[in-house]
Amino acid sequence: MRRKLIAANWKMNKTIDQARSYADGLRGRAGELNAVDLLIVPPFFAVPAVARALAGTPVAVGVQNVYYEESGAFTGEVSATMSAEAGATVALVGHSERRHVFGESNATVARKFTAVLAAGLTPILCVGETLDERESGRAEQVVDTQIGSALDGHGADEAIRAVLAYEPVWAIGTGRTASPDDAGVMHRFIRSRVSERYGPEIAERIRIQYGGSVKPENAAALLAIEDIDGALVGGASLEVNSFVEIALAAPGA
Ligand code: PEP
Repeated sequence: MRRKLIAANWKMNKTIDQARSYADGLRGRAGELNAVDLLIVPPFFAVPAVARALAGTPVAVGVQNVYYEESGAFTGEVSATMSAEAGATVALVGHSERRHVFGESNATVARKFTAVLAAGLTPILCVGETLDERESGRAEQVVDTQIGSALDGHGADEAIRAVLAYEPVWAIGTGRTASPDDAGVMHRFIRSRVSERYGPEIAERIRIQYGGSVKPENAAALLAIEDIDGALVGGASLEVNSFVEIALAAPGA
């Protein structure tokens, strides 16, 4: 039985003080949320403060990006090991804004995925097609390539440590959401590809989140779909109440 993972990707939002007061607020409500796994992904500077404020709760803290090298002359970059030291246990890899705003290729994303696993963190591998790719019938092929290039070279024992997040690019920050049925079709496709690669047992266990304009009003319908194992939430995660409402929309929560 896969527990739903509800994650808050704050993107480049919140000062350290704002992050701390959000984490204090969430801490006060964590008792209501035992039925789901929760993850907060702040900007780098706020990671230690959020990790401290949430220590002793089951809420995990992650980073939005890492570089694939351990250390060295890479001005402006942060490694997976540094992220772990700051209190993160999870790292987003290949978020669509990293791919499309910062030009990360599948090859770069694959190296980051490997580095995150090597540092002992959980990678959340984000994949998803653009509107043009969907409208030209290439959505599955694009997603398949994104997943394949990251998983290549990793055995089942590493793959099972990852979380996959299907985030159609056209639904991120746009207010447009994939319909629960369309999202379900893609999630089943992704699971079938994991099954072909690693067998049905791993495919049944791996979690596949949905992301793209998830909000309190649409969360219940999306999270009710069997193959949708949680939500990666951007804009609607910036307020504690809205994020908690989304988590409480999961079946059984
Ligand atoms: C995201 O940042 O991963 C995301 C899905 O953003 P939003 O919920 O704002 O679309």
